[in-house]
Amino acid sequence: MPEFQEYGWNVQHLGLTDEVLAHAELTKDPLYRKIPHDRLAYYVDRSLQRGREAAQACRGMSIRELYRREGLGYEITDRSGTFHQISLRARIDFNQTPPEVVIYAASLRGMADAYRAVMSPGEQAQRSLTPQDDELERLVDIHLAHEFFHYVEYRAAQFTNDMLEPVEVFRLGRRLVKRSSVVQCSEIAAHAFCKEMMGLPFLPNVLDYAFLIQTGSLSKEDFYREVEAWKSGHAAAL
Ligand SMILES: [Zn+2]
Repeated sequence: MPEFQEYGWNVQHLGLTDEVLAHAELTKDPLYRKIPHDRLAYYVDRSLQRGREAAQACRGMSIRELYRREGLGYEITDRSGTFHQISLRARIDFNQTPPEVVIYAASLRGMADAYRAVMSPGEQAQRSLTPQDDELERLVDIHLAHEFFHYVEYRAAQFTNDMLEPVEVFRLGRRLVKRSSVVQCSEIAAHAFCKEMMGLPFLPNVLDYAFLIQTGSLSKEDFYREVEAWKSGHAAAL
């Protein structure tokens, strides 16, 4: 696989603020098109805020220490994380008591180049002899942090999407109205928690795009077009 740098992709100049990357996450919601334009910023901002606030409470602690304190178990496995043709990198199983987190290390291994390109361009100097291992550890921690936030939501019995106003999905006359919560809000909050907790330069969902570009599944040009759409979607919401 060619070195990521060969793609000449520099994420630093794209203006990927938390709001823009949160907007990217929101566009994945099945209800995205049902959200009134003037309410988009509400879902983005409140979700980011919840994740950041949760991270404040964990200041100065490592993510693995947090798991220990909470007695929350996690397993790092090389088993495939592919279920029904969807490849998972991490998940939390709420059917267990306490819930259990599983990190699929095999699917994280391929992301080391993407991680290096977007998350640690300044860390080159302090690289150890085994950069791949360092990056894998960081990727594991990032995914542990993401799932930990879902645990925080579960513990408080308040998932971020349920705390925010539901969106009207269907209306028949005056009486019959169906409303649903915007589930991606929980993902935005988890990304914000993870970024604060881990001191990352961007919301970690940027890694998904870096990885797709690196593997050739997404062209840089298409990505730039998407970034512009997220930015204008977010600007229109303000
Ligand atoms: Zn999640």
